[in-house]
Order: sequence, then structure tokens, then C-alpha cells
Amino acid sequence: MITGKNYIGNLLSSVGEITFTTFNPKTNLSNNHTFVEASTVEIQEAVALATKAFDTYKNKSGVEKSAFLLQIASEIEALGDELLHVYCEESGLPLARAISERTRTLFQLQTFAKLVKEGSWVAATIETAQPDRKPIPKPDLRKMLVPLGPVVVFGASNFPLAYSTAGGDTASALAAGCPVIVKSHPMHAGTGELVASAIIKAAEKTGMPNGVFSNLNSSGIQVGIALVEHPQVKAVGFTGSLSGGRALYDLAAKRDEPIPVFAEMGSINPVVLLPTAARTSSEKWAQVYAQSITLGTGQFCTNPGLILGVKSADLDEFISKLSSEILKVAPSCMLHPAIIGNYEKNKETLSSQQGVKVVTSASGAVKENYARQTVITVLGSTFLKNPTLHQEVFGPFSMVVQCDTVDELREIIVHLEGQLTGTILAEGDDLKKYPAVVEGLKTRVGRIIFNGVPTGVEVCDAMVHGGPYPASTDSRFTAVGAASIKRWVRPFSYQNWPNSWLPDALKNENPLGIARFVNGERTTKSIG
Ligand code: NAP
Repeated sequence: MITGKNYIGNLLSSVGEITFTTFNPKTNLSNNHTFVEASTVEIQEAVALATKAFDTYKNKSGVEKSAFLLQIASEIEALGDELLHVYCEESGLPLARAISERTRTLFQLQTFAKLVKEGSWVAATIETAQPDRKPIPKPDLRKMLVPLGPVVVFGASNFPLAYSTAGGDTASALAAGCPVIVKSHPMHAGTGELVASAIIKAAEKTGMPNGVFSNLNSSGIQVGIALVEHPQVKAVGFTGSLSGGRALYDLAAKRDEPIPVFAEMGSINPVVLLPTAARTSSEKWAQVYAQSITLGTGQFCTNPGLILGVKSADLDEFISKLSSEILKVAPSCMLHPAIIGNYEKNKETLSSQQGVKVVTSASGAVKENYARQTVITVLGSTFLKNPTLHQEVFGPFSMVVQCDTVDELREIIVHLEGQLTGTILAEGDDLKKYPAVVEGLKTRVGRIIFNGVPTGVEVCDAMVHGGPYPASTDSRFTAVGAASIKRWVRPFSYQNWPNSWLPDALKNENPLGIARFVNGERTTKSIG
């Protein structure tokens, strides 16, 4: 049941004065529940509880944290149809998407549960003492990863489950041993509260400290700002716009104690259609890309917003096929009037730039909040000169850039801002003939795709979902997959520490049986 209140640790609370409702973009009407924005006092309480909870939670074993994460997954599943119903009501996304996103969310929780139960992720590294070493004896040093402290997670508008309340950021931070305070996304506050109730139930059932999780409502940016500025908050996870992510990053950097902000922001995900592929497979790629550009109404951070090719009759053929194929896709509903407002505004800004040609724009009447898919084209030289054309248009939109030569294409690629993904469409000897294009693209992205589409982010150990700024604020980390846990930890060394007082991961006996580096060798053996 949705109450509209905040979870301050295990307690529901609503002492604030600002209220708001969510919005159903399909019906174009406000939803029924009223939510109360977290007050200053509630923000302080949530952080104080998280800080206290950290003292206990950081010492919970991998087995205990694993049980907690698995219980969260079970409790989310137990929310059943109510969760799916509210998700659809607050996002306008179809039921099938709600179900698949829930599955992804449960899988992420289960994956981190497995990771921390096994335990080797702490990267235990031991160098035993050499008391007789000359001229200076070598001390015993033992290093492992330890949690940072309370983490603030901002729910993402475009993934109400998988990148929000119990999404990848929360699951990885809890797995690392960090309490989490979620700044719920105002567009899906009801979905957020239901998931928060599942996390709280799981925390109570598995004996986790009160304050290990809180969920705060907000209708504007003030709650998020107060959380990021709070001295006891030690890291931030964010998915959303470049302006939002950058504002939070700057705020965190200005604190007396600066903290890391792991923001995953805009990306136009360049796709390079190499000449032989354009000649032999333009029809196939036009069909595939018409689907990819419009998938989820284009509301994915991996949406292909930029397609680069070399001017030719083959590229013209691709553009013409893409235009006709994309018009076959029925316009669909965006997440919120504000999101479609941004889409229309940004689309218009790019479409009205000098030298831009709109080759496809779905015409005819569409329902309120439904987006018309659009493809524009521009010459490579124009694109190079005009940075406005490099901006993300969040929605079912893509731009085909017609380059004069492969050299110009490469020039464009190496001058692009950082991206989450890059894609190479190649046939025959394309790869052999144009290595500089591929090498250039590798320097600008976190993941490079061969003959495929960037949409669809597999959750697995080998995934990199991040990239050079502004795709993310720190390209050394991924927001998806097991390695995303590394955002919430720091390395910590014990020198000459008594064995019985070391954490289990570093003890001579290796009681956890984890893989460790001992004197340069990877092993699960005990020492001595
Ligand atoms: P957003 O504007 O980035 O907001 C995300 C969250 O950050 C919201 O909860 C917002 O708080 C908060 N926030 C934004 N600016 C802030 C600031 N200056 N200081 C503190 N907090 C701030 O994203 P959105 O509202 O979810 O969607 C708007 C646009 O973001 C979309 O149209 C799209 O362009 C982009 N977006 C991109 C991606 C991507 O993956 N690339 C994903 C989602 C959205 P409040 O909501 O409480 O104001």
C-alpha cells in the first residue's frame, strides 16, 4: 500500500509541508496518491541513522549481506501486481517492460548476493613480513577493499526499477557494506515507496541495523542538494541528465570534504556505417536501427543518436530506408510531460541548425505525451563546426552525418565528447581498411559494439557501462555488472596487525576460503 510518506530507516514519516503527486502520461492525468517531500529534519535523521547503521553494517559478513540482498529480491517479487500496476501508471511504460525490468532488478540483487557470499571481490592482498631483509626488514602488509560509508542514490526517471530504489546503484552499495539513502525520483515516487517497503521488510527480517536504508521523497532539487552537501554522506550514485549530474558533481567537489559522485549522464552513442557495410547491408541495418532508435520511445542512455557514414549512393540508400522503416513504428508514450517537452525542444534546436535536413518526422495526430520519431541529416563539415549538433536529444531521434571522406569521419570521431558506447558496422575488409576509425572510436567510448546495436545493456561481469566524461564522471568505473561495487569501496592496509584481530579475509587461515594474492601468487591456501 502506498502511504506517500518517507522511510526514515524503518519508520514511515511525513512531517514536511511540500506535497506532490505523480503523473500518468498515458491518461495525461495526475495519479491519486499524494507524496510528502522529506523535510530538513527528516533528511538529518536519515543520514544520522545511516551513519550509525554503518558501524554495524560494515562488519556484516558476506553471508549476512547476501541473505539481505536475496530477501530484498523476494520481497520485491512478493509485491506482485501492485508494483507492476503502479510502475505502468507512473511511467506510461508497457506491462511487458515492467515485468522485464523487475526481472533485471531481481537478477542484479541476486548477482551481488552471490558475489559477496563468495567473498573474493574484496581483493585481499597479503605480503608477509621479511624480518631478516637487509638493509631494512619488510613489515607484514595486508590490503583489502572496505566500504566508504553512507551512499546517496538518485533514482533515474527512465528506469523506475533497475536504476532506482533497489536498482544497480543501491544493490552494489549495499553489497559493498554501505548504508543507502535513496532520493526517490518524483516521477515514480509510488513505485519507489513500494520497493522501499520491500527493502525495509528485508532489513528487518535479516537483522540489518535500522538506517541501513532510507527512502526520501522530493518534488524538486532541494532534498538531493541537502543530501549531497551533508558531511556524513560519503558517495553519490546518479543516472540522468548532464546538467543534473554535473551540478551534483560540482556540489560534492565544493564540500569541505569532497566526495565521489558516480554520475552516468548523456550519450549519443555514435554508430559508424563503414563503406562495404553500407554497400552490402544498408537495408538490414536500416531495419535494425529503426527499431533500436525507437525502442522504449528512445528513452535509453544507449540510444543511437548519431550515425556516421561516408557520402555515397549507398549511404543515401541507407538514409532513405531508415526513414521509411522508422515511420512504420507506431509513436509511443514518453515518461512524463517534462520529458516530452525536453524532447520537442531539443529536437527543434537541432533541426533548426543551419545545414540540417529533416528527412523523417512522423506526421499526423498523436496522443498527448506520445513522441514523433525523427531522423535528420547533416554534412560532416557542418557537424564538426557546430557543437549544438553534438548534444543528446533524449527520445526517438537520430542524426545521420554524411562525411566527405573517411578521414573526415575519423576527425569527427576523435573530437566527439566521451560516450557510453560506439558501434562499428562493417563487412568484407572494412575493419582492415579503416583501423584509424576503430582506434579513434575506442578512445571515446566505454564499450564498442561490432555489427549490432548499442541498446540492450547485458548485466554481467564483463560489461562496462560508463565512459569518458560526460558519459560518466569517472571512466574508470562501470555502473552495471559486478565491478560496479568498486565505486563504493576504498583500499585499506593493515601493517603488522595481530592475526586474530584481522578481518577474516586477511587472516592466515583464510577461513572464508577466498582467492587472495599472497606474496604475488593468486591462491586460496592458508598461510604458514
Ligand atoms: P534529471 O534532470 O537529470 O534529474 C534526475 C534527478 O536529479 C532528479 O531526481 C532531479 O531532482 C535531480 N537533479 C537534477 N538537477 C539537479 C540539480 N541541479 N541539483 C540537484 N539535483 C538535481 O533527469 P530527469 O528529470 O530524470 O529527466 C530529465 C532529462 O534528463 C531527460 O529529458 C533526459 O534528457 C535526461 N536523462 C538522461 C538519461 C540518460 O541515461 N542519459 C536518463 C534519464 C534522463 P528532482 O527531480 O527532484 O528535481
